[in-house]
Amino acid sequence: MKKVGIVYNEIFLQHETGAHPENSERLRGTIDTLTSLNFYGDGRYPWIIPLNPRKATVEEIKWCHSPDLIQTAKIRCEEAKTVPYQIYLDSFSKRYGETVASPQSYVAALYAAGGMFTAIDAIMGKKVERAFNLCRPPGHHSDYANARGFCIFNNIALAVNFLYHKYGLKKIAIVDFDAHAGNGTEDLINQGYIPADLLMISLHQHPDTLYPGTCYVDEIGAGMHLGKILNLTLAPSSGHESIKYMFKTVVIPALREFQPEFLLISAGYDGHHNDPLTNLGYMEQTYTYMMDEINSILKELDHDRILCTLEGGYDITALSHSIANTIARLGLYSSPFSESSIIEEEQNVLNYNYENMVPKLQKILDPYWKSFKSE
Ligand SMILES: [Zn+2]
Repeated sequence: MKKVGIVYNEIFLQHETGAHPENSERLRGTIDTLTSLNFYGDGRYPWIIPLNPRKATVEEIKWCHSPDLIQTAKIRCEEAKTVPYQIYLDSFSKRYGETVASPQSYVAALYAAGGMFTAIDAIMGKKVERAFNLCRPPGHHSDYANARGFCIFNNIALAVNFLYHKYGLKKIAIVDFDAHAGNGTEDLINQGYIPADLLMISLHQHPDTLYPGTCYVDEIGAGMHLGKILNLTLAPSSGHESIKYMFKTVVIPALREFQPEFLLISAGYDGHHNDPLTNLGYMEQTYTYMMDEINSILKELDHDRILCTLEGGYDITALSHSIANTIARLGLYSSPFSESSIIEEEQNVLNYNYENMVPKLQKILDPYWKSFKSE
């Protein structure tokens, strides 16, 4: 077994979003499920270690975000105390947008980012071996100047900076398996706010068919990160078999060649077939499968330095069961908690992924990776 730190605090529930898919019930339901499985709470397994997040400082948030965004988030949350409607951080109108703010949202966002730092300190200090930051708001759509897509600060990009600045780590990989592209993270890479050598692998529903509408296969990074962004743009209805193919042909070969010193996971669960916001077809066991593959690469790398952070996932049962499977596998706990019935993918979906998308990606990456050489 591995000691797994679970970062959580009720401040994450105080980011109140009202009738919005990204709401506090997501975490309430998850904590209930984890408690019933002895993955959290007083009767928990000894390999589960609760971690209390600290608050990120404004100076730390400035690694990835403009002073103006930080100040605006703070002020808008103050304003939310006195107005009778929801405040949005990402619209010109005060009434319409996608990223809701309430009085405690700014503080919750500081703790969500700080939870990454708490987890990293616990892993590097060997208090735990692996960790999951069960936080809200999520982060992977936010870029330097903009809160977007239900995200305020980019938790995972801030974690890369923390690893670099505090621990001097220089080779870090992000795997983003949320159904939406990690566009904020990729924007921060391209805008120069990631100092470390970073490999970013995002598996997401094709941008022609889903928010944010960017992060195509041929967007492969710039400058020192050229060839280090891998966008796997899955056809709608892609499911377990497609994910297996992506891991075998792209994700695992790239991680093996890159040899990261630390692995960060943007763990979003909206690829589940029951999710109301997306059109992918993953099952609970798809998340078990991905973690098993990631465990195999960690074994090859001979370290345990992995931190997952919660991004999306809007069907609460699918979300909480899939998180439980992820935590089980982080701990090398043998039995998956939950499996759904098998959902077959249509042949035209598999054909697009296998014969169009992956070969195109491999061809574009050929100059940068031994793993994708065509001979
Ligand atoms: Zn998402």
